[in-house]
Amino acid sequence: MPIDSFTVLLFGLLIKLLLGLLFVVFWIKTRSSAWFAWWAASLLLGGVTSVLFMLRLATASENFLTIGIGNACLIAALACCWQGARVFERRRPIWAVVVLAPALWVAAGTMTAVLESLPYRIVLSSGLAAPLLALSAFEFWRGRAERLPSRWPIIVICGSFATFLAIRIPLMNSLPFPFGALPMEPGWLGAFNLLMFAHTLLLTVLIVAMSKERLELDQRTEAETDPLTGALNRRAFMGRGERLLQRHAYEREPLCLLFLDLDHFKLLNDRFGHSGGDDVLTSFVGLVIACIRPTDFLFRIGGEEFCCLLPYTSTDQAHRVAERIRFQFEMSTVDVAGTPVKATASLGVASNEAFGYELDTLMRQADSAVYAAKRAGRNRIVVAAGRDSDMDSAVILPLRAAGS
Ligand code: GH3
Ligand code: MG
Ligand code: MG
Repeated sequence: MPIDSFTVLLFGLLIKLLLGLLFVVFWIKTRSSAWFAWWAASLLLGGVTSVLFMLRLATASENFLTIGIGNACLIAALACCWQGARVFERRRPIWAVVVLAPALWVAAGTMTAVLESLPYRIVLSSGLAAPLLALSAFEFWRGRAERLPSRWPIIVICGSFATFLAIRIPLMNSLPFPFGALPMEPGWLGAFNLLMFAHTLLLTVLIVAMSKERLELDQRTEAETDPLTGALNRRAFMGRGERLLQRHAYEREPLCLLFLDLDHFKLLNDRFGHSGGDDVLTSFVGLVIACIRPTDFLFRIGGEEFCCLLPYTSTDQAHRVAERIRFQFEMSTVDVAGTPVKATASLGVASNEAFGYELDTLMRQADSAVYAAKRAGRNRIVVAAGRDSDMDSAVILPLRAAGS
């Protein structure tokens, strides 16, 4: 039994209206999610397109309204979809495209030559729709650093539909309308509309899923981030640290933990005020992040105490990183309300080569090493050595003193 095009269009219209209104509600509830407004516009314009295409089928009339305005609405819907993708990826929308791309179809709809020529219409519709869908796919692909699982099926759907529309142009003379420009076959029209409808529905469901994934990711990031310095917090340290150590235990790979503690920070606070101390903390975090690899982690454990986890790093390499941090911090000055302020830090290093794969043990050993560094005069690095956790038993060897 052939697929009835009118029924598919009617069903598509109802679904688009429903989902479009749902997206308007999402947008009203979270005004910062402006992408919902763009995708609501895209769905509602898609609904208007369905109405005009249904009118064309019901009255068998191909005129300015059913062809010119109908296709203009379709192109406007796809332009809004692309802008929704841009806004989702934190880029500005390009309003000119939303106005000019459909305007081309409005202008074309006034020309009898275009209205009467199927090949012209196919080239114009597919020539505009395919790039707009490809640009939506490109936009989501550009944002792939943000790990949202639903991003990938969306890219595939937009990309595959863009390809399908693009190859309609070279295949125009061998397939019936609407796949090509040969005389229309009602069954093929129904199949085409069903394909459009299925893509729209699937895309909408995935877009909702992706927005939810973004929300969850943002909430998780916020829960794991120290609001003052932007470093990861203690909660993140427990979760990520455990996972990292488990992986290293399985792979039997080296890993080091640095414990960093600012020297005489209380004095600094007393002298420059709490906000001056905050400036030093923020500046210290920026400096440490510049000294470690993007794959390393920096956590603020408490007040002026930090931890770095350095995956796949031997004790010697970790010592070099610690020395880079210590030296650069000693050499730097922090501007506190116009006053240049200097500060130093003491660092303890503990490696899994010496202490195994327990996060607690590594942390305790590195903390004790910092304590030894403080007693030895501060602004220095101490590497914890051996399995004994008692620093007074002299198993901790200071490798390099300040400035050496
Ligand atoms: P040491 O060299 O032995 O480490 O001495 P210290 O003064 O750095 O260490 P101590 O633990 O005695 O003092 C830490 C200070 O850090 C005390 C506390 O007021 C301050 N502090 C904790 N959290 C914050 C913060 O968020 N901002 C500021 N400005 N200061 C903080
Ligand atoms: Mg301190
Ligand atoms: Mg401290």
